Amino acid sequence: MSIRLNRERKVLFMDEAGAATAAGNPAHCCQTMTDALTNDCEIHADEPFECADMLFSYSDKFDEYGLIVHDGGSAVILIDFCPFCGTRLPSSRRDDWFDEVEALGFSDFDDPAIPTKYATSAWRLDNLKKTD
Ligand SMILES: [Zn+2]
Ligand SMILES: [Zn+2]
Repeated sequence: MSIRLNRERKVLFMDEAGAATAAGNPAHCCQTMTDALTNDCEIHADEPFECADMLFSYSDKFDEYGLIVHDGGSAVILIDFCPFCGTRLPSSRRDDWFDEVEALGFSDFDDPAIPTKYATSAWRLDNLKKTD
């Protein structure tokens, strides 16, 4: 599936909440990463990918960290380790997300009928509860 670009480590789209905001930040590996993911730019408050000061993105939905490619789009290059503290970052859940949504019978991943929990981390946190 061409939509899954994990192999090249380059993701051509990022969910809307891709660049985390100060509010609702999950716990990141270190304060520097948390700061790097915090968009405090007034000009680009709603467009983190447009802001030259934003270098990293975090997707709550896929639990993945990326370097923002400032080419005018919303591309990121996924990273496995935090460049500040060296912590191994969580493995991307992108493939699991597509597998689950596909298993529900969706082939259009923008289908508005996809349960809302799949728009955030809720789907993977739900799964954690189930396996406990
Ligand atoms: Zn870190
Ligand atoms: Zn800015």
